[in-house]
Amino acid sequence: MIAHLINTDVGRRGVLRVYLDYRRDNPNFLNNSAKMLLDNYERVLIITGFPIPPSMRAETDGPPGALAVAKAIEALGGKAEILTYPEVRTALEPFGLRFVEEPELSGYSLVIAIETPGRAPNGKYYSMGGLEITRETFDWAVLEAGELGIPTIGIGDGGNEAGMGKIYDLVRRYVPRGEVIASTVETDELILSAVSNWGAYGLVAEASIESGRKLLPDWDERTIVRIISKLGLIDGVSGQNTATVDGISTGIHDRIVELLNALVDEALR
Ligand code: CA
Repeated sequence: MIAHLINTDVGRRGVLRVYLDYRRDNPNFLNNSAKMLLDNYERVLIITGFPIPPSMRAETDGPPGALAVAKAIEALGGKAEILTYPEVRTALEPFGLRFVEEPELSGYSLVIAIETPGRAPNGKYYSMGGLEITRETFDWAVLEAGELGIPTIGIGDGGNEAGMGKIYDLVRRYVPRGEVIASTVETDELILSAVSNWGAYGLVAEASIESGRKLLPDWDERTIVRIISKLGLIDGVSGQNTATVDGISTGIHDRIVELLNALVDEALR
């Protein structure tokens, strides 16, 4: 149910066909991700931030999701640290999170990558439009976690993000320019979504249901997006510095959050 909701293809970017195939073979991907979070929340590295060519400034999709997951981890009694770009750190600073610049991976119990570039087969990184991303990237931390046997969760909505290597073939088959942009970087669990923030909110909602506790009771989507936009993050689809995410009206984001909240309330009733 929640998995369906967060894959509502409002932006019509083609995630639906990928989702239907992924879902058929992995019907429990969201439940499995929530269980992985609930079993490993002690000290979590959250990676977020997606630079948008040509400005290479980071976008508004991802950081709110990272904030939501970090707050949920704190509510569970765990610690979350964020690895990201300087302007995302500036944008998230008002929310009282912990940041890390050079994480020592062996110290973490879980790594979650939320909307951050994953390398293509040629070792380069691409936007959905097929433009090269020429900036520092953080997918190395996902790969290193994998080598160390630390559980990993990826959240993405396009096919070019860290984690999407798990469905590399589906991305190549269905996503426009998939043969160029598809990420090769796999995570143990993958949350596919129509907007990566929704994927992160869906993870929190599912973890709330599985743990029997509402982990994010006071989420104000509109205000959060307004703040991070004012502090410099841009819309990843339009490339403009507006208080929007993925070119989708704020009212849609508000209502997805409202519906997720209502579903959690209903499940916990
Ligand atoms: Ca997105």
